[in-house]
Amino acid sequence: MEHSFLAYLRGRCRKLSQVTIGIGDDAAILESVSGQQVACVDQIIDGVDFLSDQHSLADVGYKSVAINLSDMAAMGGKPLSILVTLSLPKQNSTRIAGEVYEGILEAAAEFHLSIAGGDISTYDGPLAISVTLLGCVEHGQAFLRSGAMQGDAILVSGAVGGSIRGRHLRPVPRLELAQRLQQSVVVTSAIDISDGLSLDLDRLCAASGLGAELDTEKIPIHEDARTLAKSSGRTPFQHAWSDGEDFELLITMSQKHADSLADQNMGAPLTQIGNIVGRTGLWQRQQGKLKRLSPQGYIHGS
Ligand SMILES: [Mg+2]
Repeated sequence: MEHSFLAYLRGRCRKLSQVTIGIGDDAAILESVSGQQVACVDQIIDGVDFLSDQHSLADVGYKSVAINLSDMAAMGGKPLSILVTLSLPKQNSTRIAGEVYEGILEAAAEFHLSIAGGDISTYDGPLAISVTLLGCVEHGQAFLRSGAMQGDAILVSGAVGGSIRGRHLRPVPRLELAQRLQQSVVVTSAIDISDGLSLDLDRLCAASGLGAELDTEKIPIHEDARTLAKSSGRTPFQHAWSDGEDFELLITMSQKHADSLADQNMGAPLTQIGNIVGRTGLWQRQQGKLKRLSPQGYIHGS
């Protein structure tokens, strides 16, 4: 549902001069007096995005901030403030709000965010947490999904797959990496991996109107994916290819710039997994041959 509804909404949202990048990227870019503002929002709901009877509410609160920080990193922005809206079930509402806020406050302290405001209400429904994150970026320096160019190197941070084993609750947003990249190279495009490496790479390629040739054996597979594969009936590669909530970054830049990063400490491991090509779609390149790959991952609302 989400994809077609977003397309509809994008069409209905009147273009305003202060909105440079609106619906359709990881966050919005707004004009401001100095530089540009970056804004994004994410809502997570009990029973849909987390299970309050299985997950600690402090972890869930932390995650509600961290997933926005990951979007901020994907835009190359610096986070500044959050606005927090809690919709609380009537029963135990004070206890629940307190526990959720423990995690929110922890994330805010860790990433130097001010809690600029928000709203709390109670109702006959499940816990829902909506966090709006505001940040900034130098004018024209935001990483967009749409800027990849033919021949660019494709890099991924960290390692992917199997985050469901626990990492998904305490993701490490790649803010430091994004800031170091801003200072060292020209990033042509970026996206964070929320729904699966292949699905999010496919989105970046689609936004850029290009495709990707991948050295699939270079995709960094997380230890959690290997552990999960022992009982899931799927291979570690399949987990790395399609599991969601890694919150790592996919980044493109010229091959020359990618090579220049080889021995530099960028605040997170970076691995080149392929190149952007003119032929659309995702392709595996192996011994001079190309094989079509199908993107798989988590699509919200399906
Ligand atoms: Mg995102």
